[in-house]
Amino acid sequence: MEILELQIKDIRSKHIGEQVKIKGRASNIGTQYPVYTRVAYQCLRCGHTTYVEQNSFKLEEPLAGCEEETCGKKGPFKLILKDSTIIDVQNIIILEEVTVPVREGIVKSIKGFLMRDAVGLALEDETYHFTGNLSTIDAGKGKLEYVLYIYKVENVQKEAPAPSSEPTSISKKNKIRTMKDCIKKISDNSGINKAPLDEVYKIVEEEGIDRNTAEELIKKMKQRGDLFATDQLHIRIIP
Ligand SMILES: [Zn+2]
Repeated sequence: MEILELQIKDIRSKHIGEQVKIKGRASNIGTQYPVYTRVAYQCLRCGHTTYVEQNSFKLEEPLAGCEEETCGKKGPFKLILKDSTIIDVQNIIILEEVTVPVREGIVKSIKGFLMRDAVGLALEDETYHFTGNLSTIDAGKGKLEYVLYIYKVENVQKEAPAPSSEPTSISKKNKIRTMKDCIKKISDNSGINKAPLDEVYKIVEEEGIDRNTAEELIKKMKQRGDLFATDQLHIRIIP
């Protein structure tokens, strides 16, 4: 079945019953609780067991009574735990990801149920892709609301951080390391334990450091005591 990727604000009634993937922030994560999906009811009059699929989170007894042909009594029934199917469920509210200031003033949200293995996968305030069946539940006063029965929770790849001074200094650090490595390699291969500057410029350029940057970095590395000039044309790394 195809999975629809939707934003919470775009959910419509035509999507009910569809597999839906929603990106959002986990909020109001509740404590897990058991839910019966199929209950074995033993008739206390004839002993026959009638199985009832549970479609809501409320326990429903056999609507048409005991399924034993000659019995058909409306109970009483005894729930047989070992023959019933129980799953774990956890309530959650998914908040729409807000990347631009919210104009409406309200962040859209949808109620969700983390089902079975999806229980415990979401952490408060983290953003995930939630995949599940879109359905409705009674919201009281004759109203329905959308809910997502979630069976899959995936981490969202963190987007690259916005440019700031931090990445620059990190990349500068990396460049200095590259410079050091190159200069050391050239020195080691030179047989004179020093690196000819023109060769350094040539090699580091292949590593993506242009001449101007390389000159600047060498100047800085001299100040830091990383290297020194043995003469006008050669440098040496200070071990
Ligand atoms: Zn019966």
